[in-house]
Amino acid sequence: MNQIVERIKKQYPDPTIELNYSNPFELLVALILSARCTDARTNKITEELFKIYPTAKELKDANFDELNGIISSCSMHNTKAKNLIELAKEICEKYDCEVPKSLEELTSLPGVGRKTANIVLSMGFGIPAVGVDTHVLRVANRLGISNSKKAETVENDIMEKVNQEDWIVFYTGLILLGRHICKAKKPDCKSCFLNDICPKIGVNG
Ligand code: SF4
Repeated sequence: MNQIVERIKKQYPDPTIELNYSNPFELLVALILSARCTDARTNKITEELFKIYPTAKELKDANFDELNGIISSCSMHNTKAKNLIELAKEICEKYDCEVPKSLEELTSLPGVGRKTANIVLSMGFGIPAVGVDTHVLRVANRLGISNSKKAETVENDIMEKVNQEDWIVFYTGLILLGRHICKAKKPDCKSCFLNDICPKIGVNG
């Protein structure tokens, strides 16, 4: 396990995700928009969105039709527009227009699931947490770190097996590994930097 962690850290030393944001609020909004929408498209939308609604204060008073129009190129935009306005209202009413810093508070907000909350905590605030998306779930299973299809179980397995100071760099590394090498359909094991130590669970050929 240590070897896997060390190699991931060496390969992907800077914890990063491929969404553009400059503060926890922007990250939260970008993550909500990115559900079933590519990061490239999300980044294009948020570039315009954050000029008009830079904080929860402006977003809570957004006109639904105007907001819906700005985000119309991403899927489920009606629901997302509704959720974003409700989210901003709640952040302002309950947390003085600041994004809260706990998993419980974040997951109580409209449209915010556990994965999003953990990514906001870790990437937005630097609080140790593990965000499990489809890539983390798949790669953690192939590497034998977890034996579960449930995101919360995979999250707990990673937190048990990896030192807390490495949680963020590790899970963001798994996202990048899953996106670029250990892909869902055709994992490129031949050129993978973990090839000699990975059990390749569930991988054919
Ligand atoms: S060796 Fe293959 S299965 Fe293992 S992490 Fe690399 S690409 Fe994925």
